[in-house]
Amino acid sequence: MHSSGLMMNRPLLISGLVQHADENHGDSEIVSRLPNGSTHRYTYHEAHHRSRQLARALLALGANGDDRIGTLAWNTHRHFEIYYAVSGMGAICHTINPRLFPEQITYIANHADDRFVFFDLTFAKLVEALIPACPGVKGWIVLCNRDEMPDSATPNLYCYEELIAAQSADYKWPEFDENTASSLCYTSGTTGNPKGVLYSHRSTLLHALAACLPDSLNVSACDCILPVVPMFHANAWALPYISALTGAKLVLPGPYLDGASLYTLIEEESVTFAAGVPTIWLSLLQHLQAEKLRLSTLQRLMVGGAAAPLSMMQTFDSYGVALIHAWGMTEMSPLGTINAKKRKHLTLTDDEKNHLRIKQGRTPYGVQMKIVDANGQELPHDGKVFGDLLVRGPWIVSHYFRSENVSPLIDGWFPTGDVATIDADGYMQITDRSKDVIKSGGEWISSIDLENIAVAHPAVAEAAVIGAPHPKWDERPLLVVVRKPGQKVSRDELIAFYLGKVAKWWIPDDVVFVDELPHTATGKLSKLTLRQRLREYRFPDVSGNLI
Ligand code: AMP
Repeated sequence: MHSSGLMMNRPLLISGLVQHADENHGDSEIVSRLPNGSTHRYTYHEAHHRSRQLARALLALGANGDDRIGTLAWNTHRHFEIYYAVSGMGAICHTINPRLFPEQITYIANHADDRFVFFDLTFAKLVEALIPACPGVKGWIVLCNRDEMPDSATPNLYCYEELIAAQSADYKWPEFDENTASSLCYTSGTTGNPKGVLYSHRSTLLHALAACLPDSLNVSACDCILPVVPMFHANAWALPYISALTGAKLVLPGPYLDGASLYTLIEEESVTFAAGVPTIWLSLLQHLQAEKLRLSTLQRLMVGGAAAPLSMMQTFDSYGVALIHAWGMTEMSPLGTINAKKRKHLTLTDDEKNHLRIKQGRTPYGVQMKIVDANGQELPHDGKVFGDLLVRGPWIVSHYFRSENVSPLIDGWFPTGDVATIDADGYMQITDRSKDVIKSGGEWISSIDLENIAVAHPAVAEAAVIGAPHPKWDERPLLVVVRKPGQKVSRDELIAFYLGKVAKWWIPDDVVFVDELPHTATGKLSKLTLRQRLREYRFPDVSGNLI
């Protein structure tokens, strides 16, 4: 038997974050671009006040204990208030991705058994269709003022601002076990039905603490942070929690995620740190280049959700901005690795630094990872051998919501579905999703490596590489390219571009040019859709006949 420590057993609760922000950074700002185009500006003190009013409003509507309460909402101060009010009162904040197909949203809202759903006016049409399909929802709450309420005959439609105005902030956050469920997020589910990841207060707090560390996102009270990653995608990578934890100024972009709007917001609000998927930063870069603009305050961009190419990092270097690679999953709250240097890397040459920075990075304390072969045997950490990536830690899923009798784990480790290398210093590099890896003649080819090379070509705007069927090799890489507007580049030029950059047998056999590539609801390349679109594709032989 071990004896117990004699320290206070204060639970790690999400309400404690907004309370901390109010008590210590009460005048720090939260700025939002609202869907109606206006800018809203207030402080953590007011956010805490209104979160408590909202908790009282939900209780008055009959919400209780472990209810799931859904959101179909952009990143705004109201969504921030919902995060804190719902989890703070002990209920479960269920962020729904409005970019999913309506049938998937219906499935998710019914599977989660949502009692109330908050939604932005942008989604009013979508909600009209959801209402008859989701009979379990007792109330639909529109995130707007009274004079903006839609003209609708729907019963149980409430006005957010009216609900808040009717309540005082005389509410004390309840204290309960830190293992209580706090929020719920469904994975985008490229195959089968989406699966729910049910976070706890404890997992959320531990994750937020690790995510702030200097070798993680390195956020402090001196920062002004802009989560471009939506609050319906893996809790906006924890930034709504990290902002309150650190007292950083928080800037929320609403639905305006194009390069020009982001640029204006970054400059007007003096943003120092922003986070989002590669396509977002690509559109910001295109805007900067087209308009010949500079960035005056931005220092760091975090990029994750999909692999970021070195060419993008180098272009941001020329603007004085560090593009930092990170990797994670909804199932990991989401942070798994961040690419931060070690002391010994400070003296590396530029080439060596580039080799290091394209990796997805190393784990913060709390996450452990390993790679295994098809038989589950652990593989060496030599930076070369790649295998299935497994992880474990206190903010990693143990079971999916409402599938508690089936464990997704293998001997206590969560199989990520990613294929990766890990080097001797612990830096992980994703080579592929296991289902996207190209299997040529029994060997594996990394589609991500090939895509990164293609996008470094000056005429290429976006690229995807998929395995297309081949009678001899089983699969061969096929490069699918979107050209930059007004740029010309031929198939042969692109294939020649690979010479000397990868082993000869990795070079794509053919190139297909398209106007655009399909993306998933979270902004990633949808290889599944692309493979379906190109399912009739056949490689030509040397004389141009299809094989
Ligand atoms: P999601 O749960 O929607 O965030 O998706 C998680 C998946 O996104 C991971 O399993 C990876 O396949 C992919 N992913 C996330 N970050 C990266 C990254 N930096 N590089 C490559 N793939 C990534």
